[in-house]
Amino acid sequence: MQRRTTTEVRVGELGIGSMHPVRIQSMTTTLTMDTEATIAQSIRMIEAGCEIVRITAPSLREAKNLEFIRKGLQDRGFNVPLCADIHYTPNAAEVAARLVEKVRINPGNYVDKKNFNVIEYDDATYASEMVRIRERFLPLITICKEHGTAMRIGTNHGSLSDRIMSRYGDTAIGMVESALEFLRIAEDESYFNIVLSMKSSNPLVMVEAYRLLVHRLEQEGLRPYPLHLGVTEAGEGEDGRVKSAVGIGTLLQEGLGDTIRVSLTEEPEAELPVAKMLAERPVSPDVINSLRSGAPEFVHGKQQGRDALHSARNEAIRVANIGAGFVPRVIADLSTIAISSMSDLAPLGHVYDEPTDKWLMAEQGCDYIYSGSQPIPFMLPNGVRELMDVASWLEQDEHLYKVPVYASPTEYRDACSAATIDLPGISASAVRHSVMNVVRINIADAQASFSDASLVELFRNDSTIVILAESHNRQPLTPYRNFFDALPAFGIQAPIVLRRMCSETDFDLLRLNASTDVGGMLVDGHGNGVMLSAEYPRLDELNALAFNILQATRTRITKTEYISCPSCGRTLFDLQETTAAIREQTDHLKGLKIGIMGCIVNGPGEMADADYGYVGSGPERITLYRGKDIVRRNIPTADALQELVAIIKEDDRWIERDKKIPGE
Ligand code: SF4
Repeated sequence: MQRRTTTEVRVGELGIGSMHPVRIQSMTTTLTMDTEATIAQSIRMIEAGCEIVRITAPSLREAKNLEFIRKGLQDRGFNVPLCADIHYTPNAAEVAARLVEKVRINPGNYVDKKNFNVIEYDDATYASEMVRIRERFLPLITICKEHGTAMRIGTNHGSLSDRIMSRYGDTAIGMVESALEFLRIAEDESYFNIVLSMKSSNPLVMVEAYRLLVHRLEQEGLRPYPLHLGVTEAGEGEDGRVKSAVGIGTLLQEGLGDTIRVSLTEEPEAELPVAKMLAERPVSPDVINSLRSGAPEFVHGKQQGRDALHSARNEAIRVANIGAGFVPRVIADLSTIAISSMSDLAPLGHVYDEPTDKWLMAEQGCDYIYSGSQPIPFMLPNGVRELMDVASWLEQDEHLYKVPVYASPTEYRDACSAATIDLPGISASAVRHSVMNVVRINIADAQASFSDASLVELFRNDSTIVILAESHNRQPLTPYRNFFDALPAFGIQAPIVLRRMCSETDFDLLRLNASTDVGGMLVDGHGNGVMLSAEYPRLDELNALAFNILQATRTRITKTEYISCPSCGRTLFDLQETTAAIREQTDHLKGLKIGIMGCIVNGPGEMADADYGYVGSGPERITLYRGKDIVRRNIPTADALQELVAIIKEDDRWIERDKKIPGE
């Protein structure tokens, strides 16, 4: 991993990019006109580690008030640079650029109003649009140059202009082009104090857009501007953290990103510890090397900014219900935990209901259990299969629904060549299963294993092998990638389960790191299953985390998706409270995407691909959307949730909640 070399951007006294550490920032949620509340919240953010405070400036009034907020902070001894957040209002940007160190503009709405119109642009019309943008944008550039003000050209997936949407669609290419339209004008004017961002609420789109941006900057001979990373409208709690780690963590691990903002529907102070953990993780190659154990891992391939244009899913074959055609599987690791009763499986989503004498299965019920050398003393429910070390497997009475795990490729090869023995319950008697054999591979040893032609031959031709790919590297994303990059050359198409060895003792850190490492591979289309192995005692949290990583990477949907904005000075209701109430009513509607947005100005655009939208449209007023269409306008807040439920019912997408399974 090598950090991308960038230009340096000065935000007041603070440097971004170049040799500077990854900068942490966040945004206030108070009304910008409430000077004292904004100062107080900014101080809480700064004390939590915020290095740049962003404040919304929806109109000239708020832009002018930034002067008093700035002064109030300075009077209290806080000199952290401020950034004005601008949508739709160039005049506010031009005022703010004189008062604060940085302005953020959204190229999707700086000049254009969004009407969701599809317009055919020929080259001449498009060129005349560029002239119009230039005229509107030049005054801001001139002011920024005069005052030494920095700028973020911040594209949002959900708020691309009608022009970009008409020409490029709702795509990563459209996002990049949206920023480049403005960037080219700035470069023509020799203004370079610019940071770029490509945010989306979908981490897959976000990762692709940043990679593509880096590629396009290089291709067009533009400067390597620093990148501001963020997953927008990530939501709250674990979902927001997992999504943020999948997007931001993945890019940081490949050397991209110079400043980050984690957007949670929580108090802004809560974002900063998360951002810090993400920013501080990538360390120098020397430290990574010292953390490595064993032989060097595969080392080749492009490490810095993956090739966004050619990322492809690995083509695994199908083995039982893993691999081709199946969603990634979740394997719970119980090898260090003794299971004695059926109730021990409840944290894994399999609950025995004594009154009915039936097993219930939660949406997030694990698919396999790895018991190591401590076999589970009862039959597993709900079609769950048990994986166990081969020595224990051989001692079982039943072999069909239990699957052997081999400690290494050579152990499996030895088993294949051993004398055949009789095993009850399976058709082909041998020291291996007739359908599925799980082989552990320590990635650090993989290069040595695959330099043995007979092992490569075995892995290429044996259609029962599932690889359990383990890395003991504390930063396994790059080793995992190198492993996946190497496999096609050997012709190996066995399904691969990512086993992350979690050495973190703090679950907050474990959650972010595992989401980055496993999520980063799933984003690239790699991995047919997930297994999180940890000393951490809360099996329910580990199990939910595995499923939540799959949900965030949209590889397996097991619950409702909420796209909620982090709120800001435009917000018209209590987002945290409202999100909790909507969740309470709808969290059983698996697969539905519900946007919860604080304001009508940006909310509808930023809901991206939500199926339904709940958007603040005035004091105590809500407007409800079906996709991009308004279906209830300005209804009282008190009725809004029931109306939302009614619309979902009208669309035949409502289901009654089953008996709630404990832990769900
Ligand atoms: S959608 Fe939310 S965060 Fe975005 S501008 Fe509106 S209230 Fe602020």
